[in-house]
Amino acid sequence: MTCWNYLPAEIKQHVVKKLDFMSRVALRSTCRLNYHIVNSTKLELPRVRFGYKRGRSLIVIYTGIEKFLRLEFGNCEQGPVVMKSENTCDPKETITKLLPSPVNSIVYSILTLISLLAHQSILIKVMEWEVSPEDFERLIGRLILIFLDGQKFRITEIAMRQQKWTQILHKFPFDLLYFDELENIRQMALTIHPQRLTLFMVYQFKQCINGKWLYSTDMRMKREAWESNYVIRIKTDNEKHNVETPPTTTAMFLSKNIHRTLGTEVKSDDIVSCCHKSECGAFVYTVEKQFEYHLDYLKSQKCGLGSFCKRCSDPFEYWYYQNLPRRVLHESFWTDFILNIDQGLIREELRGKYERNERERIQKASKKKKLVPSWGFRSEVPIQNEGGQGKKKKKNPILENFKDSEDVGEPEVVSLEYFEDSEDSEDSEAMEYQKQTSDFMAPRFIVTVVLFPILVSFIFYLIWF
Ligand SMILES: [Zn+2]
Ligand SMILES: [Zn+2]
Repeated sequence: MTCWNYLPAEIKQHVVKKLDFMSRVALRSTCRLNYHIVNSTKLELPRVRFGYKRGRSLIVIYTGIEKFLRLEFGNCEQGPVVMKSENTCDPKETITKLLPSPVNSIVYSILTLISLLAHQSILIKVMEWEVSPEDFERLIGRLILIFLDGQKFRITEIAMRQQKWTQILHKFPFDLLYFDELENIRQMALTIHPQRLTLFMVYQFKQCINGKWLYSTDMRMKREAWESNYVIRIKTDNEKHNVETPPTTTAMFLSKNIHRTLGTEVKSDDIVSCCHKSECGAFVYTVEKQFEYHLDYLKSQKCGLGSFCKRCSDPFEYWYYQNLPRRVLHESFWTDFILNIDQGLIREELRGKYERNERERIQKASKKKKLVPSWGFRSEVPIQNEGGQGKKKKKNPILENFKDSEDVGEPEVVSLEYFEDSEDSEDSEAMEYQKQTSDFMAPRFIVTVVLFPILVSFIFYLIWF
C-alpha cells in the first residue's frame, strides 16, 4: 500500500484526473504533497449553485448530466445541520448530520463552498447565486469575501435571478473571482405554465460591456409577449462601445415549426425587428434603429439558441435548462427565479404533471445498478431503517421546517465512536467493491485499492463524516 507514495508526480496526476470530485477532495486533504498534486490537476465543473434564503443555505456541485452533489445547511434545535445527497433531491436518500454548534450554518456553508471550490485548479463554468440582492449585499457577499481572505474562485459565468443591472454591476463582489476569466453575467427568470413539460421560448437580451457579455434570459413555457419589449441599453460610466455587437433582444422559439411570431415583434420609431428561421429554431431579433445593419449579421447565423439548442448546445447546459422548471417538484424552496411561483394553481398543476411524468419514467427504465456513493456522501445505516434499529424515532421539530425533507430522520450525534464506525464500513465497502470489479484497469479499482487506505485514514472535515 506504500506504492502510491513512490509513483512519479505525472502518474499521480493521471490518477487524479480520473477521480470523481469528492475523491479529489479526500486525497487533497491527506498530506501536503497530495494537496499539491490535486491542486496542480485541472478540473472543470459545468455548474455550481450557491443559495441562501431565510437561514437556509445550499451548495449544489454539478459534475455532469444528472450528476450532482447537494448540501443543504440549516438549523435545528440541537444546532446547525447539513443534509447531503448525491444525484437526487429525494429526502429519503438524504443523509442528515449535526454540525458542532458554536458556528452557525451559514458560516459552515460558506466555509464548505470555499474549501471545496476556491482553488486555482478548479474552473467553474457557471456559478449560480440563488440569493436575494438584499441578502447578497448585506450578508452573503461580505461573508464570502471575509472567509476567502484573498483567495478567489475561477468562474466563467455568474448567473442570478432577475434584478436591476445597476444592482449587479455596482454591488456584486467581483473580488470573489478572477475578473479576467469572467466572460458572462446572466440574469435568469422563468415563467412556468402546465401546458408543456419543457421550455417553449426564451426572450434574451444580450449586450457587451467592457468585454463582458451581459445576458438577461427570460424563459417561458408557453407563447407569451414580453412586457418590457424593448432593447434597453445598459449604460455605465466608463463604457467602451462595442459597435460590432450592438445590444440585441431575441425572441427565440425552441422549435423551427413555428409559424406565428406575433406579439414578439416590436413596432416603435427607434427600434427595428426582423424574423429569421434556421435549422434549429425561429427567431425575432430586435435592435435599436441606429444598429439596423446588425440584423443582416444576426440573420446569417446558423444557430442563435445557445444553451437552448438540442442540436448545437453543450449537452449539460441543454439538460440543465430544460429541467429547470422541474424545480417546482424537486426543490420547491429554491424557486425564487420563477417569476410566477406564487400562482398556486399553475404551480400545483405543473408539479402534478412532473410527478406523473417521473413515475412513468421510473417504471419504464430498467432498474439501474446502484452506484457507489461519493466519498463523504455515504451512510452505513440507511436513514429510513433507523427506526428498526431499536432507536426511538423522534420527530425533529426544526427539521420539519425543511419543507423538502419531511422524511429525514433524526440527525446523528457526531462522536469519536462514530468516526471509527464510518472508517470500518468504508473499508468493507471498498472490499466488496473490489470483489465485484473484474476490470483491473478501471479507474475506480485504482481508487479503491491504491487510494482508499490513504483516504479513509484521514479525517479532516466534520461535514464529511
Ligand atoms: Zn452605451
Ligand atoms: Zn442550434
